[in-house]
Amino acid sequence: MAQLNALPNMNALLDHARFKDIPRERVKRAASEVLDRLRDDFMSGAAKHLPTIDECAELIFAKIARDDVPNLRGLINATGVVLHTNLGRAPLGEEVHAAVAEVFRGYCNLEYELETGQRGSRHAHVEGLICELTGAQAAMVVNNNAAATVLMLGVLARGKKVAISRGELVEIGGSFRVPEIILESGAELVEVGTTNKTRLRDYADAVSNKGAEVLLKVHTSNFEIKGFTESVSIAQLAEYGAANGLPVLYDMGACFLLESEMLGLQAGETARDAIADGADVICFSGDKLVGAVQTGIIAGRADMIEAMKKHPLARAVRPDKLTLAVLETVLRLYRDPGEARRRVPTLAMLSIEPEELRRRAQELAEALGTVCGGWDVEVCETTDETGGGALPNVPLPGWAVALRPQGTQSVTELEQKLRRGHEPVIIRIHNGAALISPRTLLHGQGERVADAFRRIFAEEGQG
Ligand SMILES: *Cc1c(COP(=O)(O)O)cnc(C)c1O
Repeated sequence: MAQLNALPNMNALLDHARFKDIPRERVKRAASEVLDRLRDDFMSGAAKHLPTIDECAELIFAKIARDDVPNLRGLINATGVVLHTNLGRAPLGEEVHAAVAEVFRGYCNLEYELETGQRGSRHAHVEGLICELTGAQAAMVVNNNAAATVLMLGVLARGKKVAISRGELVEIGGSFRVPEIILESGAELVEVGTTNKTRLRDYADAVSNKGAEVLLKVHTSNFEIKGFTESVSIAQLAEYGAANGLPVLYDMGACFLLESEMLGLQAGETARDAIADGADVICFSGDKLVGAVQTGIIAGRADMIEAMKKHPLARAVRPDKLTLAVLETVLRLYRDPGEARRRVPTLAMLSIEPEELRRRAQELAEALGTVCGGWDVEVCETTDETGGGALPNVPLPGWAVALRPQGTQSVTELEQKLRRGHEPVIIRIHNGAALISPRTLLHGQGERVADAFRRIFAEEGQG
């Protein structure tokens, strides 16, 4: 115990020359954390010796320097998972940057009509575009699609019985479970059909015999039932709803704004399809297949959208000016489908040809081959993923660079070093190889991945 007294004391550290340009409070906070850790390590036996005052000062200085790096920061996604929820889903690309900077910088006409000088609506900046792209009468935007679902049900189904297929009572992620959302919205759940088969007559039965007043369809997004199955399309449901005067609501989760032929993908219905098929209100995520920013986009019948806009809940889930600026910029690209495909990074990444990925993988492999001594570097075929719970059964054939150690080097250690590096690079490990997928690398990031490897191998060379 006597030795613990040998730990440098706080006042001596605060006066250390290393910290002469750093505010005393910052040094104090970092020092007390470092001293606590040293004390614990020493007491538990994890550390055998106590550092000198100079060594201590270095540790504290390093801690202060680490704290200067922002917590939320950019990284390179080399996983081949395009809409990686943990990595912020859709990347936005360069255009958005320039267009949005103006709004970031100062004041803006968020709720102000320049023409009249009157108060305006924040939804107005994107409503016309959403209507144009979906064919809907009216539209609004909220914080995310979970909020869109809550608002839609809370306003249009509160106190009512909501019919939904048992095959669509899904959990989307963590705490978003469709049955719970329905109950939270003050609606009553009427389960229809079975897990694998639901027919139109099951909905009719729910309406005639169980008093269902609202028909809800939810896209199952992150899973698919195969085999002996049957479900009711939004077109059939909408036709039935219209004939019986019942609102038909559709949580589409992830949907495209572009036809899937345009993207060369088997990707199902677009928002426009669902509106054309007669859904009264649809909602979907802005940062899944739309490739914009975290938002919930709601579109449909004017009277219903109006009711939602006026509801107090709308205030609690409204988007901010930065979100709207990004969304408007991205939606404008969609006016020219070819442009959207090229310039919305999510769409470009999903529709890129495997041959092009192979070319990029080869280029990257050549760069890494010269850097990664002791590792076999080659290109291999992979299956990339859409991610974000979208298109779980649409495989994306791709190519990756695979690194395998020739000796006893560890693949997990390499993964960790890349992740903890100056510019973090997130990779996949598959069958004992470190995989780097060019699909999710943005313009110029291949070179930066090579830089990250260079830094790691240079350090190893020294150590
Ligand atoms: C993803 C998803 C949600 C939640 O959307 P967020 O934008 O993540 O809030 C809700 N419903 C469905 C069907 C989804 O796929």
